[in-house]
Amino acid sequence: MKKTILLCALSLLCVPTFIAQRRAQTDPELQKMVREVSARNIEASIRKLVSFGTRNTLSEQDNPTRGIGAARDWIFSEFERFNRECGGCMVVEKQSFTQPKANRVPEPTVLTNVIATLRGTTDPGRTYVVSGHYDSMCTSPTDAKCDAPGANDDASGTAAVIELARVMSKRKFDATIVFMTVPGEEQGLLGAAHYAEQAKQKAMDIEGMFTNDIVGGVTTKKNSPHRNRVRVFSEGVPSNETEQQANTRRSVGGENDSASRQLARYVKEQSDKYLKDFKVWMMYRRDRYGRGGDHIPFLERGFTAVRITEVDEDYTHQHQNVRTENGVFYGDTPEFVDFAYTANVARVNLIALASLANAPAKPRNVGIVTSRLTNDTELKWDANDDADVASYEVVWRDTTAPEWTNSMNVGNVTTYIAKDMSKDNYFFGVRAVDSNGNKSPVVYPRPMR
Ligand SMILES: [Zn+2]
Repeated sequence: MKKTILLCALSLLCVPTFIAQRRAQTDPELQKMVREVSARNIEASIRKLVSFGTRNTLSEQDNPTRGIGAARDWIFSEFERFNRECGGCMVVEKQSFTQPKANRVPEPTVLTNVIATLRGTTDPGRTYVVSGHYDSMCTSPTDAKCDAPGANDDASGTAAVIELARVMSKRKFDATIVFMTVPGEEQGLLGAAHYAEQAKQKAMDIEGMFTNDIVGGVTTKKNSPHRNRVRVFSEGVPSNETEQQANTRRSVGGENDSASRQLARYVKEQSDKYLKDFKVWMMYRRDRYGRGGDHIPFLERGFTAVRITEVDEDYTHQHQNVRTENGVFYGDTPEFVDFAYTANVARVNLIALASLANAPAKPRNVGIVTSRLTNDTELKWDANDDADVASYEVVWRDTTAPEWTNSMNVGNVTTYIAKDMSKDNYFFGVRAVDSNGNKSPVVYPRPMR
């Protein structure tokens, strides 16, 4: 912000930018939604999900009180309830499929993603997905009988998604938001993989996916210095990168500028505007060592996705049979979940989703022109067909800087030349801005002739 003001002092051109930024700084409706997120509702959802005893993907599907089927039907009924309250504003569905035998699936098993879709008003094709996995496991992933409360992993993420659906279904957004809860995560990311695959087959325009997995903020870590922040993991080099793209990257850099990393920066930037006491801690890696999550099947199919997870994990309360051993209690039970923490994580998601879905689409075909040697940098992109686009911003940073440091509004144009700023010396990006100052995530340009 400071740097923008400085630039504005040098150029009359960017005065409108400054005004637009100030206006975008605080959207009162978004602030209202942030306040509506309720830790109490989240607690009630987590306790309800735990009450089904186990939500192992291989557990009972037709018992109304125990097993994954009971959890599936309860989540569905919650989405339906919100849908009635908003006058049928969403499409609520059970997406079932038969998972063939797999590593952790001994027999073909029906899996059901439970999904509520809030269709966008002006740009319904553009879609953002927010997800949590509703399955759970005890020590053995294929033990369908043991108690597997899964309060943190991942009733917390599921409860956050349910609460987001409740709050956001009362509003309208330009783009579409999908509230998704999936099974089969512990069986190998199966529910998410099914959704991502059908999304790819249908050529859905999913511009961002968030998986919320283990967002309970374990109470055993309450004195941790990281108490007031949540991790957002993003890959640097795209999981689906082609050999040609890899060659370009080796040659001129960009290993820190995947679309998913731009999304993570966006989540942080937006969240910082609204939350004073809770921060996003970006992790420049796809996931933790030896672990995976539901963002990965999306990444592998070329979608932009990040993982959201508490900072301090307590492994005595993850994937454990509920028991006391040598005086130590093991088990993922609700007394180790800090519901206020989960509510803050839900708020981070809400801020990012609402900002994305209200902002214009990202500019497409953003290129950095390399046809001649020059110390100017020429950027070009396609005109955004979003009726809402008012202008574009060029952003840049030092090649060693982790986040964008500078921005300049360049007007409603599709090409811009940064004079005496060599593309060899900075990283550049472009984002779209609407008339209210809402901004898209940044697009990192590819070399173009
Ligand atoms: Zn999990």
